[in-house]
Amino acid sequence: MSELILTGVPAAPGIAIGEVYLYRHDEPEFREYCILESRREGEVERFDDALDVTRRQLYALQNRMAKLVGDAVARIFDAQTAILEDPEFIDVVRAEIMKEGTNAESSIHRLAHRFHDMFAELGDEVFRGKAQDVLDVGHRLVKNLMGKGESTIGPLERPAILATDDLLPSDVIHLLRKNVQAVAAELGGATSHTAILTRSLEVPSVVGVKNLVQLAQDVDRIIVNGNSGKVILNPSRATTVAYTAKRKRYEKYQAGLTDIERLPAETTDGHRILLSANIELPGETGAVISYGGDGIGLFRSEYLFLTRNSLPDEEAQYTDYRNVIKAVAPLPVTIRTFDLGGDKVFTDLPLPAEPNPFMGWRAIRVFFDEPKLLKVQLRAILRAATAGPTRVMFPFVSDVREVRKLKGILEEVKSELTIDGIPMNPDIETGIMIELPSAAIMADRLAGEVDFFSIGTNDLTQFVLAVDRGNERIRKLYCELHPAVIRLIRMTVDAGHAAGIEVALCGEMAANPLATMLLIGLGLDELSVSPLALREVKKLVRSMSYAEAKDFAAETLHFDTAEDLGNFCSDVMKHRFAELPIWFGDNNES
Ligand code: PEP
Ligand code: MG
Repeated sequence: MSELILTGVPAAPGIAIGEVYLYRHDEPEFREYCILESRREGEVERFDDALDVTRRQLYALQNRMAKLVGDAVARIFDAQTAILEDPEFIDVVRAEIMKEGTNAESSIHRLAHRFHDMFAELGDEVFRGKAQDVLDVGHRLVKNLMGKGESTIGPLERPAILATDDLLPSDVIHLLRKNVQAVAAELGGATSHTAILTRSLEVPSVVGVKNLVQLAQDVDRIIVNGNSGKVILNPSRATTVAYTAKRKRYEKYQAGLTDIERLPAETTDGHRILLSANIELPGETGAVISYGGDGIGLFRSEYLFLTRNSLPDEEAQYTDYRNVIKAVAPLPVTIRTFDLGGDKVFTDLPLPAEPNPFMGWRAIRVFFDEPKLLKVQLRAILRAATAGPTRVMFPFVSDVREVRKLKGILEEVKSELTIDGIPMNPDIETGIMIELPSAAIMADRLAGEVDFFSIGTNDLTQFVLAVDRGNERIRKLYCELHPAVIRLIRMTVDAGHAAGIEVALCGEMAANPLATMLLIGLGLDELSVSPLALREVKKLVRSMSYAEAKDFAAETLHFDTAEDLGNFCSDVMKHRFAELPIWFGDNNES
């Protein structure tokens, strides 16, 4: 077979070249048979025993994961253990055995597939994760009933690249056994379990690679480029040589970044910005510190739902927030209140299916209908804020009325805690995300209400340009470097500064090297990026002067289209920063 280039979604950065280790999660083979009425109770007991064994296995796996990568990541297993306790699953299996006389294996199989199809049909990434969880647990139960024990990936005898249909939480333990150089998977998106886990473990990965397992059947060697999302099967000699050079360059580039970790994000003429990190999981604080972040600019607290799969109560939230705040203190942590809705949907909260979920019942709109949810979260944040500098940030704000209402609720919560004599820190700064065009346009009015702004370009771009941020088909139209987006950023920064408040930017744009000089020149006080991007952005900031960045930003005013502005940024940045990995991506052979 000749070389074949596939494209997926880059999930964790890095480049790997090596042998393929192919793994497909086959359905366990079992016999379907009828149980005599007199033996059905015994069959239910057999099922209950398998439940026990499965619980123990998952518990052991979770413990091993927790020791290796921390509680937060290991909590991904909670979703699976919850299925083993869910009456809608286990009671239905028991009832089917008793009523229909089907053997336990076939009852589980049927039900797991019914749930899987139901979740998978919802099309949403979070539900696809649930669909995989239910199948994973179903297979495990069936294997335990058949006495086949655990069969997941590996162990890999020698270093190899895992190509698989899906990477399930129960497989992840094998990633820790050093020999997995990279992962390519058919399923998953940028925020899927696979992506989150491989990023935490720093294993390069590409997900969402269509037909990978079938195409990789007779393949020996494979290249995975977690920076670009390319997967190359049977690479030619020339391609291997080119990618070996790319990998060396990437590794050298990464190694060269280590020396700036302890240095400030400061331009050559002494203009200092804060370079902080976006995190989803409490376990990421280690990376924030080791990569030299100035704190946490965005803690997407709604991920506490994803890892638990249920509504965390006040105590659980308090513990997680406190752990994060303590871990990075004295550096500040900005906790964003739950941004539920949009693409972040959780079964525990009955969010209705909506035609336009990104523009629907989302974030603070959910809170206004369910104020208890907000109050519990604010109580937990205020209490945790005694552990170190904390800021609270509200997403999806569109006008002053909403901000006043939110601040009113915050004050109510403070009074309740004071009356109850519960220790808390009332002096936390309050800010809002500027991610709706209405908020950016009204930034001058909003600025008088809050202590800081943080611009969310991920949403701002999709709403200004009317381009769904998750729609593959129109991906080319989604362009942060569009003059309309830049104008709104400029307006927001100017309005914030006129009112004497700081303005941060925490959308993905903050980590886009093509945008760094422009953002510095526009006067942003803080950029918040994923922990892995901290060093690269800092290196860029430290290599430019504020004066040249301001001139550069002024120049961009002359462009009318996203294309012209984008070309201008890439020409200047390519000339100024030729060593950036984006220039040696797959489409930019050098
Ligand atoms: C944004 O919209 O830019 C942002 C940071 O929030 P999220 O990506 O979580 O919507
Ligand atoms: Mg947003």
